[in-house]
Amino acid sequence: MQRGFKLTGVLTDAELHRLPGAPSVERAAKGPVAVIECAEEFPCDPCEYSCAYGAIIVGQPIINLPCLDEDSCTGCGKCIAQCPGFAIFVMNLNYSKKEATVSFPYEFLPTYKAGEVVNAVNRSGKVITKGKVVDVKNLTNQDRTVVITIAVPKEFGWDVRGIERKEVKAYDR
Ligand code: SF4
Ligand code: SF4
Repeated sequence: MQRGFKLTGVLTDAELHRLPGAPSVERAAKGPVAVIECAEEFPCDPCEYSCAYGAIIVGQPIINLPCLDEDSCTGCGKCIAQCPGFAIFVMNLNYSKKEATVSFPYEFLPTYKAGEVVNAVNRSGKVITKGKVVDVKNLTNQDRTVVITIAVPKEFGWDVRGIERKEVKAYDR
């Protein structure tokens, strides 16, 4: 049984799909879209200003949970690095016939580069499948938050939310 966000800090599937920041299953099936996994009401809204398409609405009061306008979201991913809570992901369930991609913030060193095979983890940090890095963005407007995109087997698209940290060898320190 899944115990829920209040007890564990980890969203269950049902909780995720109830969030105003989560896209519908139908929209997600069409292609790249943001998944805003922000579930606590506290004063925060940089996500709203990060989206040039007006696809994220916090409004007033500022403690509102962010709401995704799924039809306006292009899946560009610009909001990912602007969220101080690391709560925004972009999922593309249409990446290829067998693979989905998931993009997420990554703030550890050493970082990864395109082509590397990684252990993909779920919201609890548990390794659930292998993935392959397809893109690494480290733009000046991301303030050193790297955004990594990995390809994973399609059935893991809704569950993968990060990767295991790279092993730091003694000579890397
Ligand atoms: S992925 Fe792009 S279009 Fe979608 S909410 Fe984020 S910034 Fe806006
Ligand atoms: S910036 Fe992140 S933490 Fe803040 S309201 Fe938006 S999604 Fe939530």
